[in-house]
Amino acid sequence: MPLIENVTMSAFAEGRKTCRTVILPCGAVEEHGTHLPLGTDALHAVALAGEVARVAGVWVAPPIYYGLCRSGSRHPGTIGIRGSTLQCLVEDILRGFHQQGLLNVLVLSGHAGWTHMAALADACERVLFEFDDLRIAVLSVLDIGAAVWTDLIETPGDSHAGEVETSLMLHLHPECVTGRAPEEYPTFPRHILVRNKQAFWPGGVWGNPAAGNAEKGKLFMERSVKALVEIIEKLENWSEPPESDPA
Ligand SMILES: [Zn+2]
Repeated sequence: MPLIENVTMSAFAEGRKTCRTVILPCGAVEEHGTHLPLGTDALHAVALAGEVARVAGVWVAPPIYYGLCRSGSRHPGTIGIRGSTLQCLVEDILRGFHQQGLLNVLVLSGHAGWTHMAALADACERVLFEFDDLRIAVLSVLDIGAAVWTDLIETPGDSHAGEVETSLMLHLHPECVTGRAPEEYPTFPRHILVRNKQAFWPGGVWGNPAAGNAEKGKLFMERSVKALVEIIEKLENWSEPPESDPA
């Protein structure tokens, strides 16, 4: 299936006769060190969704470029939105999918911050309970990471603008990679919220960019696509037992 944004009304009507599955790529406009672009998470999610759609023959919806950012929220270039804004957007888009007959929805986030993912999951749960015939999966690129790149990755705790994301960008958009930021493993205070994030995370990197390369990025992509195609097959065939009345 082509990208939804590129098809006509007639092509969409024809296509949905045979395909009722759609991927919603989500990202963030967020710092990714001095070497990766602010749109890294969306670029990753969009590329992944496109490749999964090509293999599995499903729709890809126009992406949500903005997300909820915390740790990198004060760094130059980060433009975050509130969790409530993200939730309104996601809920309306999911209702739109349902209205258009797209009943199997994979929300795929390139940004993996836990508050961002919690906001997404909460919004998806709300819409799930509105429609009996809707199936929804929500996950971040890091959620499939353990199954995808554990044996390839050299950097323990790599999570942001480090080995994985640098590799992916070197594979997908090498023209957007500028040198390499230094290796960094920030330590934020436990439990206590801080305003001056940059004091605890000056470089905006969590991991080792120098360990990244395009070959790893290609492998990460190929394995991620395989894992996501399996998740889509599972989602399309998903059925759950009806809820019984409470005793
Ligand atoms: Zn990222």
